[in-house]
Parts: sequence; C-alpha cells; structure tokens
Amino acid sequence: MSISRRTFLKASVATAAAASVGIAMPKNAEAARGADVDKWVKGACRFCGTGCGVYIGVKDGKVVAIKGNPDAQTNFGFLCVKGFLAYKCMYHPDRLTEPMIRQSNGKFKKVSWDKALDTVADKFKELHKKYGKDAVAYYGSGQAMTEESYTFNKLFKGGFGSNMVEGNPRLCMASAVGGYISSFGSDEPVGAYADIEYSKCLFIVGSNASECHPVLFRRIMRHKMKNPDVKIIVCEPRKTTTSKIADLWLPVDPGTDLAVFHAMAKVIMDNNWHNERFMNENARITNGKETFDIAAYKEFIKDFTPEKVEKLTRCPADNIRQAAEWFANSGASTSLWTMGLNQRTRGVWANNLIHNLHLITGNLFKPGADSFSLTGQPNACGGVRETGTLCHLLPGTKPVTLDKWRSHIEKEWGIKPGTINPKPGFHTMKMFDSLGGEKDTSKPIKGMITCTTNPAQSLPNLNKYIDGMRDSFLVVIDIFPTRTTQLADVVLPAAFIYEKGGVYGCSERRSQLTEKCVEPMGNAKPDVWIAAQIAKRMGLEKLIPWNSDDSMKNNEMAWSEYIRVTKDTDHTLAGATYSRLKKEKAGLQWPCPTTDHPGTYKRYVRGMDPMFEHEGFQKKFGIKMPLDRQFYFYMDSKGEGKANIWLRPYAGPAEVPSAEFPFYLTTGRVIEQWHTGTMTMRIPEIARAHPNGYIEVHPDDAKKYGIISGDMVEVTSIRGKSILPAHVTKVSLPGILFVPWHDQAMDRMINFVCNDAVDPGSKEPEFKIAAVKIKRISGPKDVADKYIVSDINSSFS
Ligand code: SF4
Repeated sequence: MSISRRTFLKASVATAAAASVGIAMPKNAEAARGADVDKWVKGACRFCGTGCGVYIGVKDGKVVAIKGNPDAQTNFGFLCVKGFLAYKCMYHPDRLTEPMIRQSNGKFKKVSWDKALDTVADKFKELHKKYGKDAVAYYGSGQAMTEESYTFNKLFKGGFGSNMVEGNPRLCMASAVGGYISSFGSDEPVGAYADIEYSKCLFIVGSNASECHPVLFRRIMRHKMKNPDVKIIVCEPRKTTTSKIADLWLPVDPGTDLAVFHAMAKVIMDNNWHNERFMNENARITNGKETFDIAAYKEFIKDFTPEKVEKLTRCPADNIRQAAEWFANSGASTSLWTMGLNQRTRGVWANNLIHNLHLITGNLFKPGADSFSLTGQPNACGGVRETGTLCHLLPGTKPVTLDKWRSHIEKEWGIKPGTINPKPGFHTMKMFDSLGGEKDTSKPIKGMITCTTNPAQSLPNLNKYIDGMRDSFLVVIDIFPTRTTQLADVVLPAAFIYEKGGVYGCSERRSQLTEKCVEPMGNAKPDVWIAAQIAKRMGLEKLIPWNSDDSMKNNEMAWSEYIRVTKDTDHTLAGATYSRLKKEKAGLQWPCPTTDHPGTYKRYVRGMDPMFEHEGFQKKFGIKMPLDRQFYFYMDSKGEGKANIWLRPYAGPAEVPSAEFPFYLTTGRVIEQWHTGTMTMRIPEIARAHPNGYIEVHPDDAKKYGIISGDMVEVTSIRGKSILPAHVTKVSLPGILFVPWHDQAMDRMINFVCNDAVDPGSKEPEFKIAAVKIKRISGPKDVADKYIVSDINSSFS
C-alpha cells in the first residue's frame, strides 16, 4: 500500500506541499487546465473546510474536469487531489437515482417521488400527532449547502415546533464554537487565512494540516520557505508531515496539552513577555464567577512548571520554554488548530487556553496574529453554525433560549408567537441515544431525517446507536448507498453540489456561491426541493414556498430570506446577495452588511469591522461602542467589550491507558480520503491509492507484541473492536496508535472502538482518545478490497 500511495502522491497535486517545493504539476491537474470543455462554472470545492475556489468544466451536459480558481483568496488556483478529482464520483454506477421505500421483506423498492414524499410526510404527521413535536428529528451536515440547512432548520423549528435539530458539526467543531463564544463572545475567528502570510510564528495544534487542509498547508510551507525566520511550532502526539516542517515539535500524550498551554503561559508571565496593557484594556481574567487580577492569574498557573508538565505530558520542558518564547516575542503569532483540540471531553477548555495565549500576549488584531480554528467540513461554519441548525440555536448563531431573538425569527418567518420551542433539543449523542422504535417507550424520538451524512459509520461507540437507527422511522437523503441507508426506511436520492448549486461558508467566514452546472443524475433531486416538498405535504407550503423545479431559484429564495433574517447580527451577510456572489471572484467574508461592503478581514477592530458603525445591530442587541476603544469584543455578555482569559483547571481525557487497555488510540483523516469514504472511495485513483484503513504502531510496541507491517492486528476498547493491517512506523509516540476512519468494511470501522463521552460544555464526543489493547491476529491478508457499500439491499453486518 505504501508504495502505490507514494507513487500516487507524486503523480498528483495531492501533496500541495510537495508542489510548493518544486515537484512538477501533476498530469491530472495540467489536463484539467487545458480540458476540452463547453464552459467553466465558478464554484467551491465539495470537500474540506479550506473552501478552495474552483472552476467546474462542463462538456455535453456532464462535469468533465475541475480546476483551481486563481482569483480565489483561499487557494489561489491550487487544489488537492480530492478537489480536482471530485467530479469523478458523480458518474459512479452506485449513484442513487430513484426514491426507495423498504418493504416488509426488508428489501427496497423503487417508487415515485410522490409516493416517497407522501410516505415521509404521512409518517411524520402521525408521529408528531401521536408522540408530540419532539418525536421527529433532523440530523444534517457541514457538507449540506447553506440553503439546505436553513430550510430544514426552518421546517423543523418553525414548522414542527421541534428543536430536535442537529448536524455533524457537533462531532467536529462544537468545542471551537464553545471556545470562541466563551472567550470572545461570538463564534468564528477574528482574522482570516491572510494572517498566515503575515505571521512570524505559526503555532499548529492538534492538526495534521498537511493531510487535512492540504492547500492551506501549502500556504504555510510557502510562507516558511520565503521567510526562513518564521517559526513553526507543532503540538500533537504524532510526528506527521505537518510536524516534519516544524522548527519545534511539542509531542504530547493525547488529551494532556492543556497543561502545555498553561506551562507556556507561565513561562510567558514569569519572563514578563506578556502585554499587560492589552490584557487590561481588552480582557478580564475569570473563572466564570469572579474576575481576578494578573497576580491571581500567575498564582493560578504557578504549578505548571515545564518540568512538572513534561512528566505529565511527555513534552520536553525545554521545548515548552522555547515555544513560549517564540510565541510571545515573534511580533505576530497565529495559532491554527482543528480536531485534535476539539474532539475531546475538554475541548472547550483547550480552545480557551489557546485563546488565553493570544490575549495575554496581545497577539490578535494585528496582521499575522490570530487564534484561528480550522474547520473540518466545507460548510460547517456557513451552513450549520451560522444558520443555527443545531438544537440550541436559531439563524444568526443566537440561542433559542433568547426570547427577543425567538420573537424576531417568528416574526420574520410569519409564524405564531410561541411556535418556536424555547427549550433546546438534544445534542447529537443524546439525540441518537433517544432514537428508537414505537415499541420502545424509553426512546422519545421516533422519526429522523438525515441529510448528507452517514451516522451509522461516523458516530463514536457505534454499537450503542445502530438499533435506534434501525428501529425508528429513518429517512436518508444521500447520493450513494451507505452504512446509514442500510438502516433506513426511506432513501431519497440527492443531487450532487454541481447538479444543484448553493452557498458554502468556509473557516475564514467566507461564503462562496457554486452555480448549478449540470442536471442531476437520473431522478435525483436537490435537498432544498425535497425539504420544500415535505413541507408542502404537511400543510407548510407558506413557510417553505421555494418548491419549484428550478434549483437556483429555490436556492436564491432561501438565501435571500436567510440574509434578511440575520441582517442585524454580527454574522451579517446582508450585502452578499446572490447577484453579488455570482459576480464576486472569491466570495465574501462576513460581516458584510451592505451590497457595497467589501467583506471583513479582521473583526472587533475599529476601521476594519463594519459592526462599529452598524446602527441596526447595535440597536437590536443594545450595544454601545465607546469611541475611545480601538478594539471591542462587542458580543461580550457583560457589555464591557472584553474577552475572557479563563482560569481552567487541568483535566485529562475521559479514558487513560490502564493495565488492561495499555494504549491510547487516536483517529483521523488521510489526505486522499474524505470522512466515511462514500465519495472518495468511488474515485478510482483514490480508491487504488488508499483503499483501506490500517493501524499505525510504533516499532517499540510492535516488537513487544511480535507485530510486523502488514500483520493483522485486533484493537479493542471496552466498547468494541476492529481488525486492521499494521503499519509499523515511528510517526506516533510509543504507546499511541492511530487509525484513519474512512474504511467502510465492518471489521475495520474504527468508530466501534471510539469513545462517545462528551465535553460537558460543547457536547462534542471524545473521538480522539480511547484506551485500547492490541493483539496480533495473523500475518498479512489482502484487505485492499476497496470495500464500499454498493448494494442498497445489503445488510448492516
Ligand atoms: S484543500 Fe480542501 S477545499 Fe481545497 S481542494 Fe483540497 S479538499 Fe478541496
């Protein structure tokens, strides 16, 4: 496997980093540039949260090529392998092209759209009437278009009165949301990707950007190559390709890095490298109940000496000291992080402690200084967080508990006051734990629609949730058969992004419109149309009137309403009309309050952030911005315009290795594959290059257990087990195992093993850390079977 993968990487632009160090542009990418097409349509990449701008090449009504958009401020024309090969999955023979209903014999039968939609609407009406409004739920995705999330959110919260609305960003970004809101008062970053090129020190934490955000990693590489004095610090348990370009690696045991961040803060404070004026003017030190002075902060972190922290975390004390010095004194430091920080039972605290480092050193508002969460999915920010498609939010990322905002939304939606439930619904893990059949009185949720996501493979501790999905009335909207369609009652075939169009909003608050390029395959339909047709059948046509056969018209109606409803929020996109997004070269960054506003690079900075002059916003939220403040965290709940420097105690992960389970297991992505592999495993080049999961074992551990590369190894936690081929490598520290999670083969679906304990603040589960044991099962077996769920009638086994 390693040889074919290496060959593949060399032959593709997948290693954007490699391209930046001189490897020739690959044949495929060059071919895309000169492809014989009828037209190129502007859009966004279907995959990661980087949000690369693309052009989609269309010939004879089919997508035949994708190339990077050179004007896009995210990627400047570069793409990784997933981006430029994405269209190849569109025409895979497994595409779902007809609605299907499961029959009493357990097999699916193709039916008309009318029959399928009537069945869904009738059953939802019945469940709603029989068990109450919270008996029906929606589970969406950071890969759905913004218009889709907005529409389903409106249908459930405004139509059914149910806040049982969640999305898979709960599984990846909820801790970042909690971190931003509790530290800065409002979700999403202060700055933008442009800070990478201005930075003098990049602190990359819990992120293998080289594989998970490859085009951004290319920007980091280029910046370092052009400016060798720029310091790159990487903090994570594995010495990944990202760590290999670092000047300094802070290796840590999973879940222990809170102590490293406090130790860095201690070194900074002890050496007077902090920025006292910035702290006093722009932040308060707090434990959530009281505020404290700087002396108290020093006292709080006094025990986090680098030497003590080395013993706890395995991170060398000298590395901590060096990292603190570079971070504090570079002149412009930017932190970048993703799932390693978020998918934890202390994810919010970890986010807070990174923000602390920026607040105590004043590394925030100047170019090159930012505390920046890299979002995993292409539309987790724009689609789910900003439209409030989560159980506790409403559009504009405001809580359902906020009376004033609930009334505002009810008025805008033209529904009776009191329709929206003031009580949040269940977070994702609780929602799936509450999902069950009508005979099971312990499970209050009886019906669910899932859209653009595959929870039967992507939830942690899968064994616990499968029966609920199987026994309830489950409607799956997707483009391929998946592990989740295997548990569904109704399967509705969806159009691919380039067959319907819509908006994606990436990590840097940038919304980009993809225009419809081609007609959907077979009888597949846009998800917005599906939602609107369900609404119509439930007597809610007035609420969701965008139900025509013209997907771009429907999208524009949904988008126009969304930006109107949220025009007075700090997330405003009122100026980003469809006609403007069509014309813009590379989308727009909110806040963007008017059609002549260029979008915002830095928030909270007078002269850069339009909210300082936005009367509607200030009136609606009762905010007064003092004229003498250059920086102002205007969503500060205390009305002082300050951020919070948090006194968070140290807490480790929910599970630590024991005599019975002596290893840490951590999971993640590889560059070629996307999430559960439903799309990327249907791209032949990718499936060939990286077909199956594997378990990464350090040579010291491999020796002890008599394992060599290729041997089949069983990995077991208290929840479940997987059997995977071993890859013996020094990438991880001894005692730490790594498994990528895209593989659909039942034996290798690693989420059976992962922990579903959640962060009490964000309710995000601790995917990244589980205590496990291993044993060698056999010598090598050919597992490169490119396993994918292809038969819609195959069973979940
Ligand atoms: S880096 Fe992400 S957004 Fe860019 S091409 Fe690759 S998958 Fe797409």
